[in-house]
Amino acid sequence: MSQKYDRIVVVGGGSAGWMTAAALATGLRGRASIEVVESEEIGIVGVGEATFPSIRQYNQIIGIDEAEFLRATNGTYKLGIRFCDWLEVGKDYFHTFGHFGNLFGSQTLWAQHRRMGLAEPLGTQCVPTVMAMKGRFALPNEQAQFKYAYHFDAVQYAAFLRRLAQQRGVRHTQGRIVDVIRRADGGVAAVQLDDGRRIEGDLFIDCSGFHSLLLGKTLAEPFVDFSHWLPVDGAWACPCERSTEEITPYTMATALEGGWAWRIPLQSRTGHGHVFSSRFIDVDRARDQLLARLDGKPVAEPRLLRFTTGHRQRFWVNNVIAIGLSSGFLEPLESTSIYLIQDGIGRLMTMLTEGRPLDEDARALFNEGSSRRFARIRDFIILHYCLTRRRDSELWRHVSSMALPETLAYRIELWRRYGVLHEYDEEGFDATSWLAIHAGMEHWPERDDPVFAEIPAERALRALLARRDGIAASVERMPLHHQLLGQVLR
Ligand SMILES: Cc1cc2nc3c(=O)[nH]c(=O)nc-3n(C[C@H](O)[C@H](O)[C@H](O)COP(=O)(O)OP(=O)(O)OC[C@H]3O[C@@H](n4cnc5c(N)ncnc54)[C@H](O)[C@@H]3O)c2cc1C
Repeated sequence: MSQKYDRIVVVGGGSAGWMTAAALATGLRGRASIEVVESEEIGIVGVGEATFPSIRQYNQIIGIDEAEFLRATNGTYKLGIRFCDWLEVGKDYFHTFGHFGNLFGSQTLWAQHRRMGLAEPLGTQCVPTVMAMKGRFALPNEQAQFKYAYHFDAVQYAAFLRRLAQQRGVRHTQGRIVDVIRRADGGVAAVQLDDGRRIEGDLFIDCSGFHSLLLGKTLAEPFVDFSHWLPVDGAWACPCERSTEEITPYTMATALEGGWAWRIPLQSRTGHGHVFSSRFIDVDRARDQLLARLDGKPVAEPRLLRFTTGHRQRFWVNNVIAIGLSSGFLEPLESTSIYLIQDGIGRLMTMLTEGRPLDEDARALFNEGSSRRFARIRDFIILHYCLTRRRDSELWRHVSSMALPETLAYRIELWRRYGVLHEYDEEGFDATSWLAIHAGMEHWPERDDPVFAEIPAERALRALLARRDGIAASVERMPLHHQLLGQVLR
């Protein structure tokens, strides 16, 4: 590693800051000093409670034991997201992280299912969907392979990582940063705290959340605004007591008049929130709609968060790299923020450890990769909105008629005309996930691959029914989610 990056300063102690610090401490093994500066007074956003399966890789790489992690973070298992009322009020579908099985391959399976005109949903052919619907959970094995993620308390996760990072030599400094001292080349030389202390560094990781203290405020990197495509700009969050013994192993996302509501079950409480667009619903009305939906006694006052969807034009400028909300935010519908944090950390670690100079080319590569990743996930999230048949409020009329990003319009057209699921580079979601949204939103291609019709109908039907029954029987033998969780926690 270049001498230049011997002192790394992480500004911010939310999930982004401590995930970055723990990964740096693990990967660099003492080759650089790492210091996290955060202000308890400012606090953290603390609402990232639903995750993506890649979080398991992150935890494994830094050596976290699953049971210990679940105990420390009030964690539960997550098999996917149940989307209610997105197509029409009263209709729902499930997006799992799993594929639909190897019988024919996901897409062929879907086409055969439609061809046979089976009344039950496609999800009956998918192990994790059936598990979710039955409230059951078992860890994947040779017979049932699927991906899973977690729900957890973001404040406790940051605290858990802080302890781990400190054990691995990361220094922790409390204090509010009131000034940023620049270098002659425009980079950052040091941050100054309100008590006069100065923290110098060679490389600064800006994890200061929506404040974007270094990249946004100090270096004035422009913001690429996505709000014309992703118009939500606020959220009310309110946790409540758990009302039942059973814990659903999935996130619920219910479309509402001016946005959508989340329901995220943890061990001891349930997280509720309403993500809304203030262009289409009054802020107080959005809060009232959330409070009317709570399925337990509130354990805190509802909290309002405001944001703009989009990202900084560049993520790495001079010696400042932004990771987490300081780099951008794409609304929480598919729980991708922590995934994007992890993606940024992965890119950074590769650059720091592969020994190449961290020059202009390296920065350009990092920036292009990060921008593309944001754009791919942006398109995937828009897909959930733009295929709606709802016209019952201004939000739904807007999202169903708005001009789409070219990259998304192209993909939708290919699907609609030819049944092709086009993939770009830097995808956050694979073809099976795109298929799950198209299928859930009943968005069928005009024609299927003619090869599908060559499979004799009787054989296809037999196979589908056998698969459905096999899955139902194996899921019936699995424990309920809270039972399995209880065993793991013990
Ligand atoms: C409504 C909503 C719902 C969300 N849901 C999900 C979800 O389900 N799944 C998911 O993956 N993500 C979700 N997210 C995103 C997730 O919350 C964040 O990605 C994650 O918590 C990381 O935040 P952060 O660390 O970047 O910022 P923060 O948690 O805000 O941390 C910022 C840190 O910077 C410090 N700081 C700021 N200014 C200063 C200063 N002047 N001096 C010193 N320190 C300073 C603060 O003290 C704090 O420690 C959601 C976000 C929102 C808004």
